[in-house]
Amino acid sequence: MNRIYASLPDTIFDVMSGLARELGAINLGQGFPEDDGPLDLREAAARALIECSNQYPPMRGLPETREAVAAHYNTHQNLDLDWLTEVTVTSGATEAIAAALFGVINPGDEVVLIEPAYDAYAPLVARAGGIVRYVRLEPPDWRVTEDALKAAFSDKTRAVVLNTPNNPAGALMNEHDLELIAKYCVAHDAIAISDEVWEHVVFDGDRHISMLAAPGMRARTIKIGSAGKMFQMTGWKIGFLCATPELSSVLVKAHQFLTYATPPNLQRAVAVGLQKPLSFFLESRTALQRARDRLTAALTHEGFVVLPSKGTYFLNIDLAASGIDLSDREFALRAVKEASVATIPLSAFYGSAPKTQLARLCFAKRDETLDRGVEALAKARRLMA
Ligand code: GLN
Repeated sequence: MNRIYASLPDTIFDVMSGLARELGAINLGQGFPEDDGPLDLREAAARALIECSNQYPPMRGLPETREAVAAHYNTHQNLDLDWLTEVTVTSGATEAIAAALFGVINPGDEVVLIEPAYDAYAPLVARAGGIVRYVRLEPPDWRVTEDALKAAFSDKTRAVVLNTPNNPAGALMNEHDLELIAKYCVAHDAIAISDEVWEHVVFDGDRHISMLAAPGMRARTIKIGSAGKMFQMTGWKIGFLCATPELSSVLVKAHQFLTYATPPNLQRAVAVGLQKPLSFFLESRTALQRARDRLTAALTHEGFVVLPSKGTYFLNIDLAASGIDLSDREFALRAVKEASVATIPLSAFYGSAPKTQLARLCFAKRDETLDRGVEALAKARRLMA
């Protein structure tokens, strides 16, 4: 069997959600909202399922969906994308990431990943024959430094994968961070694969900035988005892949043999969703920010040290600083079994020498679930501190 896949563990998200289901635990692990997304979008999907074609849509996606993606990014991020040649609809952002890496990497190419790095990146780079070079960010600010970039980029660098807002750190890259990475991409003729799936989930009045808009990056950025994250329906698995016609024409060769196409009724509903007014996105942001603040306050009250979260559905607790002298994995396994609450250990987002004292919690949950989650975490802390 293929050595890379054969030696991979099950993804931590499935492991923790599986344990939570099996043990009836509160699931603050895998990132999915507790409530289903907007009813009008679900109705639009249901209507399209009954009234419209259920046969293969075009490989790059339905025109109405691709037009809506380009218009959406124009309205919200002032980007200028040609829907016909620069936008592809994928079966989730995970497929978009795979298509981007498979489309870019030749065997032996180096790919810079920024740690903590979403768990899919490194295995997909390896499967494409690439060699991972890590840049590590440190809490609580998680800022990228010039020294770290200088050490990671070389004349073999083909691409860098970045993720802003960052899962699991809850950090946001500012203009300076993006310009710094851009400078190294330009100097080394590298492509930025920019995982921006959390672009609408930013807090405290902050603003997401796309790598596509960074100096010199329009022609060397592959921007990845996710309707599942935008509309809080993570099971829909609709992603977007945006890049120049030249890059897109190769990326679609990967996409056409990964999934070929994506369910047409969901694409139609997503096209409707992308046209929602700004108020819709601001309201979801406000609701999530309130949930973040509720969870932070309650955890702090229970003696946990909580790291700030500026975006995503996630915040992190510092186990060591909270008096828990266990590795994140031990803590996660014991907390789900002994205190009925699932978390995600941050070590899952590292290559070698992982950070092992942080646990990620998802706050896209109802108040009552957050409160019960905190009670369960407080119990875990009493058992393990
Ligand atoms: N992005 C989700 C998370 O970070 C997981 C997605 C998945 O399990 N494929 O929790």
